[in-house]
Amino acid sequence: MNIKIAYSPYTLKPQSTLNAVTSAESREGMLLKVQWPDDNRIGYADLHPWPELGDASLEAQMSDLRLGKMSPQIEQSVWLADRDAKLRLENKNIFDQGTTVKNNYIVTDFTVATDEYLNQLISDSFSTLKIKVGRNLKAEAAFVCRAAALGFRLRLDFNGAGSPESFRHFVFELDPRTRTCIEYVEDPMPFDEKHWQEARKILPLALDNQFSRVDWGNLRQAPFDVLVIKPAKMDIPRALQLCQLFGLKATVTSYMDHPVGMMHALGVAMSLKKDHPEMLNEAGCMTHLIFQQEAFAAEIPTMGPFITRNSGKGIGFDTLLESQKWYQVKTL
Ligand code: MG
Repeated sequence: MNIKIAYSPYTLKPQSTLNAVTSAESREGMLLKVQWPDDNRIGYADLHPWPELGDASLEAQMSDLRLGKMSPQIEQSVWLADRDAKLRLENKNIFDQGTTVKNNYIVTDFTVATDEYLNQLISDSFSTLKIKVGRNLKAEAAFVCRAAALGFRLRLDFNGAGSPESFRHFVFELDPRTRTCIEYVEDPMPFDEKHWQEARKILPLALDNQFSRVDWGNLRQAPFDVLVIKPAKMDIPRALQLCQLFGLKATVTSYMDHPVGMMHALGVAMSLKKDHPEMLNEAGCMTHLIFQQEAFAAEIPTMGPFITRNSGKGIGFDTLLESQKWYQVKTL
């Protein structure tokens, strides 16, 4: 198909260190503008690789694109851009195609999360905290206990960086009441069916970045309870099918990417929530808060844990997107 792709580079500045495997440096990415020749529809998407988590670098993906080869991540971005383009064509916004979803709050640096700060989140109606762990287990466990005592439900993410020993060690630092407040632990260690089965006897587990290590074809029973669906990276119909096949719940999250990618994740979360309300957990799409605010994030209206209807078509940002400086990639 002779689609036309243009790109616009951007930089995001994190508020603090984001997870166990990366540092607080600026994050580079590309906005993509895709045009289809059949009806000239135009849609936008984000391309925000995390080489630290195994993605091909931005440079590698863009140079392949110039040679006419789309990386899986760019293919997914184009799929999202198509969703956006079709909504724009129909004069619709993502809020016209789904049900509002509640979001968890991401704590990237618990050392600055005082009780006052956490109580403010509770009065703002946040009920779930997502915490990246794996850097300092003892201090993290202490924070988890404190947050649980204040009434939060917790999602803990090791990003696959732990081991069966470190996981057990961590859990033993938690009092029994705190353990009941843990909704799930995400990627507690590299995926291994036996190790995960053991870990799951202690706490519910969620599969996220260890997805590609799972031998889905030979899996009889999933040793996890939740599939984290990242629309930036994952084939959505396949993810849905896996959830149905293995009786999993789904948490849709953004990819700690540009607000354009984030609103795409929200759009997918809202439409899945509409079609499969029983399957969908609270989402994790409010990741713009972890970056220093720029023009796009400033256009995202929120009310506590909810992103409320934004202006514009598709994912929104109409004027901002039009005014970006776009560079054309050769026609594929
Ligand atoms: Mg994760």
